[in-house]
Amino acid sequence: MHELSNLSLWHSTMSADEWGPGRTALGADLQVDVAIVGAGYTGLWTAYYLLQRDPSLRIAILEAQVVGFGASGRNGGWCSALLPMSLDAMAAESSRSQAARLQTVMHETVAEVGRVVAAEGIECDFAHGGYLSLARSQVQLQRERDHVAHLHSYGFTDDDYRMLSADETIERCGATKVVGGAFTPHCAAIHPARLARGLARTVERMGATIYEHTPVVELSPRSVRTHLGTVTADVVVRATEAFTPALPGLRRAIAPVFSLMIATEPLPESFWQQAGLRDRSTFNDGRHMIVYGQRTADDRFAFGGRGAWYHWGSRIKPEYDRDERVHGLIHRTLREMFPAIGDAEITHRWGGAVGAPRDWWCSAHFDRSTGMASAGGYVGDGVGTTNLSGRTLADLITDTPSELVSLPWVGHRSPKWEPEPLRFVGINTMAYLPIGADRHEEHTGSPSKWREAIMNRLIR
Ligand SMILES: Cc1cc2nc3c(=O)[nH]c(=O)nc-3n(C[C@H](O)[C@H](O)[C@H](O)COP(=O)(O)OP(=O)(O)OC[C@H]3O[C@@H](n4cnc5c(N)ncnc54)[C@H](O)[C@@H]3O)c2cc1C
Repeated sequence: MHELSNLSLWHSTMSADEWGPGRTALGADLQVDVAIVGAGYTGLWTAYYLLQRDPSLRIAILEAQVVGFGASGRNGGWCSALLPMSLDAMAAESSRSQAARLQTVMHETVAEVGRVVAAEGIECDFAHGGYLSLARSQVQLQRERDHVAHLHSYGFTDDDYRMLSADETIERCGATKVVGGAFTPHCAAIHPARLARGLARTVERMGATIYEHTPVVELSPRSVRTHLGTVTADVVVRATEAFTPALPGLRRAIAPVFSLMIATEPLPESFWQQAGLRDRSTFNDGRHMIVYGQRTADDRFAFGGRGAWYHWGSRIKPEYDRDERVHGLIHRTLREMFPAIGDAEITHRWGGAVGAPRDWWCSAHFDRSTGMASAGGYVGDGVGTTNLSGRTLADLITDTPSELVSLPWVGHRSPKWEPEPLRFVGINTMAYLPIGADRHEEHTGSPSKWREAIMNRLIR
């Protein structure tokens, strides 16, 4: 058993071969063409596409812990086309057609991940079954209808986003109280840690070197400093997502927001005959409190949600991943949706931090004059988006003309988060408001307008 097997369901279900041999730490000063800080999907996809563009590049990836230690190894496994910012926000900053173009590229990104994992032989249980948003009340149904109509107003059609009747929805997913749903084919379920570890082996085969147990203490143009040596590079890529605030000068760039998950034991075929999810479509319902689930390749539920507290000073500690209150809430929600799970054992409880920028926009950056690049701020939508980051940063760094480099998220500057205590109050209000809004909706049968207005305002 690997020493980090208890990080999540995903880490605990990898074989010794999938974990692979441990990698060494940086042993001395080094000179390379590109130094990448962080061996999650952002860092790994960037290395992958850089080496596709130019196989002669010398690339070093420096990872504080091990490949896939961060959110990339622990997530819900939705490789979706979701972006944290809305189409309207993108249109306001660019144009409606540019916003639609970025969304279309995200649709293609799901297929691109599928193409690469097949081409490179990365076995990560990739199942392109789409994503189902269940409406479990009339208010939720109306919200789904409005959302699909809004997407169609940007030129998307039923091929991309469509409403399903109650019967069609239940046929796909037999949760309780279903009155309808919305479906998009643009999502795949994956085993997140297998993708991270498989991608790492792929980029090593292509020529990159990964140093694990090598925390970077400072990044500056052409130089990355660690206590084990300094790496000099023409280009330095920061791919540190939720861990970014620990780096000098970046305390208020991103806030770590915790997302927690549980997994059941494998459930019997008799259960799945009723619960469905035969194509392994990922699913949630239309509540405000974000929840997300998948049927895993070994027939468990992996199910997660937000609602955990933000911690003062943007701190990240292992104990923040295990919060009995939130894990209990997530378990109750799953049982309420699928009472037939009964007292099936919850075999795994874990969590991790997502990186939230002040305006909820993800972005990708490259400054040719300093050689500094970065991508992140995906909030909870990084599994697919990191692939687009990798392709975009590779095109920017190698100066490859492509449509990707002019998409509206490239070069977007998010404002800094407020200093404490405002940040603490604001983010924790955001964590609680959706729960209050859902309770209100459940009791009154109508949406809580003032809570929705505050939620919209806080992330602007
Ligand atoms: C519980 C959970 C569920 C989620 N579910 C989904 C989902 O279903 N779909 C989806 O799209 N997104 C989901 N996300 C978000 C998604 O996982 C992330 O957006 C994505 O993995 C970010 O990848 P990354 O490479 O940018 O960051 P990470 O995977 O966090 O990688 C950053 C790496 O940098 C390393 N690092 C940090 N600082 C340093 C340093 N100073 N020196 C060296 N190394 C450093 C870290 O150790 C880490 O390995 C979820 C996240 C969580 C936590």
